[in-house]
Amino acid sequence: MINKIDDLVDESKAVLQEIELPKYFPKVKLFIKRIDLIHPQISGNKWYKLKYNLLYAQSMGVKTILTFGGAYSNHIYATAAAGNILGINTIGIIRGEEHLPLNSTLSFASEKGMRLVYKDRQKFKEIHNGLCYEDIKNEFGNVYVIPEGGSNELAVKGCAEIVHKIGVDFDFLCAPCGTGATTAGLIAGINNNKSIIGFSALKGEFLNEYVSNLLLKSTGEYFDNWSINTDYHFGGYAKLKPALIEFTKEFYRTYNIQLDYIYTAKMMYGLFDLIKKGYFDSNTTIISLHTGGLQGNEGIIKSRKIIMDYQ
Ligand SMILES: *Cc1c(COP(=O)(O)O)cnc(C)c1O
Repeated sequence: MINKIDDLVDESKAVLQEIELPKYFPKVKLFIKRIDLIHPQISGNKWYKLKYNLLYAQSMGVKTILTFGGAYSNHIYATAAAGNILGINTIGIIRGEEHLPLNSTLSFASEKGMRLVYKDRQKFKEIHNGLCYEDIKNEFGNVYVIPEGGSNELAVKGCAEIVHKIGVDFDFLCAPCGTGATTAGLIAGINNNKSIIGFSALKGEFLNEYVSNLLLKSTGEYFDNWSINTDYHFGGYAKLKPALIEFTKEFYRTYNIQLDYIYTAKMMYGLFDLIKKGYFDSNTTIISLHTGGLQGNEGIIKSRKIIMDYQ
């Protein structure tokens, strides 16, 4: 059992790789920061979102963490793995009905000792959005509740640390957005002379408000050096289009880096497109964050019958 939370992952593995852009592209520098490599199971942004939540749970002597997610959730996967290593019980409230056999995400979580409890979409929403602590306590006893995606103020605190680990000077730092909590953390962590762009993996315009509110709650401050790009969601959460699939395969063939279809592929597609269109001034240095999530590809590749070269 590991007691020191910082020893749980190996941040020295989070290398910074330059992405050599095609010759005909405008002259900017693009890097990818591989925080997906810090741990084989607690990968990417989910570690930084969990870190202070786990420290808090440990310091309070919490025996059980309860959290929420969909059937392919990277957060459920990471929480189950972290709980297992730290000797903290975990309960995952899963959106929807149970499907047997369990998919690869949920069978992993279950093997790591996570208790899986299924709630239909309506009930899931009610419990999660209301975070009805009384109901949760009645049903599950004294548990520490982490919201879906791990997105809370402690997640912002953890993700703010990513900024100081990039390793080169830069102008823009880019990350994919689900809830936007990771992006909020980056904004909180950065100097005002650099900019953050969050690429939304979801359809809709709610992220600006969510990120501003979460930032205000976490830091008490307003920031204006950030934006959310909503042009590259490809139809919405977990929706794919042939152009995205082709891009992701080509990216792997060219750079030998796997991207996940839900988040990082959409961000990288968006970045390539913006660079190509001249959105960034020449000599700009852009960092993209590889937030991980590759475990989720298995489900999406199977359900969409995508053939990947590396399978
Ligand atoms: C969860 C996740 C995100 C989104 O993080 P938010 O903090 O919810 O915006 C991005 N990339 C990957 C790989 C993820 O698993």
